[in-house]
Amino acid sequence: MFNVDDIRKDFPILSRKVNGKPLVYFDNAATSQTPQQVIDVIVDYYSNYNANIHRGVHSLSQEATDKYEHARQKIQKHFNAKHAHEIIFTSGTTHGINLVANGFSSLLKKGDEIIVSALEHHSNIVPWQMLCERTGATLKVIPMNQDGELIISDFDNLLSDNTKLVFVNHISNALGTINPIEHIIKQAHLYGAAVLIDGAQSCPHIKPDVQALDVDFYVASAHKMCGPTGQGMLYGKESWLKKLPPYQGGGEMIAEVTFEKTTYADLPHKFEAGTPNICGGIAFGAALDYMNSIGFDTIAQYENELLEYATQELLNIDELTIYGTSQQKTSVISFNLDGIHPYDVGTILDKLGIAVRTGHHCAQPIMDFYCIPGTVRASFAFYNTKAEIDALVAGVKKAKMMLA
Ligand SMILES: *Cc1c(COP(=O)(O)O)cnc(C)c1O
Repeated sequence: MFNVDDIRKDFPILSRKVNGKPLVYFDNAATSQTPQQVIDVIVDYYSNYNANIHRGVHSLSQEATDKYEHARQKIQKHFNAKHAHEIIFTSGTTHGINLVANGFSSLLKKGDEIIVSALEHHSNIVPWQMLCERTGATLKVIPMNQDGELIISDFDNLLSDNTKLVFVNHISNALGTINPIEHIIKQAHLYGAAVLIDGAQSCPHIKPDVQALDVDFYVASAHKMCGPTGQGMLYGKESWLKKLPPYQGGGEMIAEVTFEKTTYADLPHKFEAGTPNICGGIAFGAALDYMNSIGFDTIAQYENELLEYATQELLNIDELTIYGTSQQKTSVISFNLDGIHPYDVGTILDKLGIAVRTGHHCAQPIMDFYCIPGTVRASFAFYNTKAEIDALVAGVKKAKMMLA
């Protein structure tokens, strides 16, 4: 049985005060909080077996290597990848996307096309623009509708034999829309295009099965799913990872080095130059253990209840508009009060101890679409409560009175 009061005890930060008020943390789409179980793993690493991996004969190095590679296997299992070496440790989603974009530099030519969506995070737009500049390929954009959903018939029409790559986020961080990636992957494959899914926003809520999806690349960040910052993963199909050239040169990624020629290491080390975030990788594994111990079905069901409740309560406030009204949504609510700047609302909420995000959420094209400077975004995690939503609603009402 899911008991949110018990769950909250796992997160030390949730009992602190901010500006004299109990913290209400609704900025989960930017980063999630960390349970004691993961903090303990981090402390244990630095207290007991901190050592560099893969190169030492000594016991600490062996122990660190074993734990790090065991974490890779946990990630493999979680995402249902066929092989552990298809999991590349990265510093986060942005790193994973840049790794793939860089790899495609040598595979694309003028006339080739890359399709992205109108719902993308900047980290999923800029690397493709840079890739197009380098290769002469063209960027095409799947448009969105007023509900914040991709217009899928337009996507189908954008596809052609020139399409080489399709990049879409699984869930939009600005609006919470769940995109129909099963359809997108299937259609793109009919034209031989590779598909990269940005899972930064989906992985905190659902458990993707990369083999069932038949996706070519899938990226995620640990810090949005109860893990540490500076850690993420790239899943790539073995065939694609073999085709792509290494991203960075350095130690760990080589098989043999002479000044005449260097040969590269096998997967996954080919893409893991230098000393990685060893503790981060191990803690990522612990974060997956923690979330799986609660269960993703349980998490999704509870978060949906929070989403429905918050949507209904916020819509009771006059002159409040919610952006992103897709039926397929996770627990993100982007909203504005008529004639009031989101930043001012966010500042008043902060005084009340309520943490929300304000601004364009690294997704300026979406804000341009709605002709707004930004939104107030409240994003919920499984450790939030209805009582906290009541505090938010009261805070928004107060902000409205003070600013109107
Ligand atoms: C947070 C986020 C990113 C960037 O993740 P980093 O951890 O900052 O690299 C990319 N895409 C989406 C949809 C996100 O929510």
